[in-house]
Amino acid sequence: MRTLGIGLIGTGFMGRAHALAFRQVSAVFELPMHLRLVALADSDPARAERCAAAWGFEQACDWQALIADPRIDLVAITTPNALHCPMALAALEAGKAVYCEKPLAVSLDQAALLHRAAQAAGVVTRVGFNYQHNPMIERLRQMIAAGELGEILAFQGEFSEDFMADPQAPFSWRCDPMQAGGALADLGSHLLGMARHLLGEVEAVCADLRTVHKQREGRVIEVDDQASALLRFANGASGAISTSWLKQGYKNHLSFEISGTLGTVAFDQERLNELRLYRRGGEGFQRLLAGPDLPGYAAFSPAPGHQLGYNELKTLEVHELIMALSGATKAGSDFEDAWQVERMTAAIRLAAAQERWVRLASL
Ligand code: NAD
Repeated sequence: MRTLGIGLIGTGFMGRAHALAFRQVSAVFELPMHLRLVALADSDPARAERCAAAWGFEQACDWQALIADPRIDLVAITTPNALHCPMALAALEAGKAVYCEKPLAVSLDQAALLHRAAQAAGVVTRVGFNYQHNPMIERLRQMIAAGELGEILAFQGEFSEDFMADPQAPFSWRCDPMQAGGALADLGSHLLGMARHLLGEVEAVCADLRTVHKQREGRVIEVDDQASALLRFANGASGAISTSWLKQGYKNHLSFEISGTLGTVAFDQERLNELRLYRRGGEGFQRLLAGPDLPGYAAFSPAPGHQLGYNELKTLEVHELIMALSGATKAGSDFEDAWQVERMTAAIRLAAAQERWVRLASL
């Protein structure tokens, strides 16, 4: 069996999530290749050493050495957003497959550069839009494709958290426009990716962005705290989205309703094992619960109602990545999909700045 050498960059929130997924995936699925955790890199070498030992990587090193290592076939990037571009470009130039966290880049130019570089390299790329790997989302996608909701009329979505709600919350790389891009880039990218995954391309947007807390730790904040936008989908549906990292009480509220001529479906990531479905003529919403009739769920548990969690979605994402590397699937968001999401966020920023509708084709 072929061995896939893996190098992981970053040991923060997402670094750990990737490491857990790489370790769990072969216990959950029968894989067409053997996974070898070759190296772990972090800007803090002592932490890289500690995490490498604890997470089962053979060694710690810096990211340049990791990319140059001939034993490594796949580079996973979980660093702050501005580092995605130089790291992914170097990995693509070395002919490695790349699994990069979202958002792919900090500007549309960077995202376009990465998309072109991935095409030129001809390697498998994937981006961490893990929420799309929820078996309940796949069930919904199939319901829409089968016409169970009828003609799709609208997508209304929100992704709110409250981790920046306190005006005293410390300045972090997420607050720096050169390093990241505010709530829209951080949370909105997931929501826009989800909308596109389920309803297809967006043609035009208008939007409003606001920075509520204009200083943190004495530093001026130039990124948005909350954003809202209207969307026009190519299929004729209309959309409304909002995102905030200030909304008290919400911890992972990636939520949306999709309404069609035959029914409405509602989803909330804070209850990720459920869909609420209303069918035309019904007396109210029905609660659909994830169970082993869904292959992604059955892989973890033979019993209904036992529930998947956030980290399982990451394992499902890594499974699809490995199947893509073995040539068995094309599913999953690649650099082209992530570039399309970046086009949506760029259009939303431009629309808000110029207070007008922006067609994505004009970018
Ligand atoms: P974090 O701050 O917890 O971790 C970042 C890591 O990168 C740290 O370990 C840091 O030491 C390391 N790092 C920084 N500079 C480096 C360098 N030059 N070389 C090597 N390592 C370096 O951040 P996080 O929350 O894990 O976010 C990282 C990425 O993951 C971001 O792009 C973010 O948008 C994304 N993210 C995705 C999800 C998701 O659900 N898919 C959730 C959270 C974060």
